[in-house]
Amino acid sequence: MYDQEPMIRVGLGFDSHRLVPGRKLLLGGVDVPSPFGEKAHSDGDVLLHALCDAIYGACGRGDIGEHFPDTDPRWKDKPSSHFLLEAGRLAKREGWRLVNVDATILLETPKLSPWKKTIAESIRRILAPVWELGESAVCIKAKTMERCDAVGRSEAIVAHVAVLLESGGS
Ligand code: MG
Repeated sequence: MYDQEPMIRVGLGFDSHRLVPGRKLLLGGVDVPSPFGEKAHSDGDVLLHALCDAIYGACGRGDIGEHFPDTDPRWKDKPSSHFLLEAGRLAKREGWRLVNVDATILLETPKLSPWKKTIAESIRRILAPVWELGESAVCIKAKTMERCDAVGRSEAIVAHVAVLLESGGS
């Protein structure tokens, strides 16, 4: 134990979903046009799920599945913005402020470059009731898997997210 509690905390989030026809491809709350989307109990927003895990992890509060179990009918097709807002509220209650979000989405197709800014803005908007984030505080990056593995075959999508929290949430 340190004499003083740390002033900053890092959090790491990961999520993946299968891609299936007839579902929306939701990323950071944005409906990205695509012939297939995430199969899931909730709306399947892989980026918001990874972001929730990063925030919960930085707070030392487990993962999204502990807070919103996918066996609970209340969360069926629930907008993932609800989960993110709740994760943010918990972090703020515990005295944390979000410094920045850095995310990488792994998706073979469609190309996400035209959507990255819109997705970042959407995340800032979802979190606005909790924290006011500057434009550079949310960075969305996108990569393909060069046609390798399940992502490369367009069978799956993956998101990695890092967050930094600092004390002084109110
Ligand atoms: Mg998920």
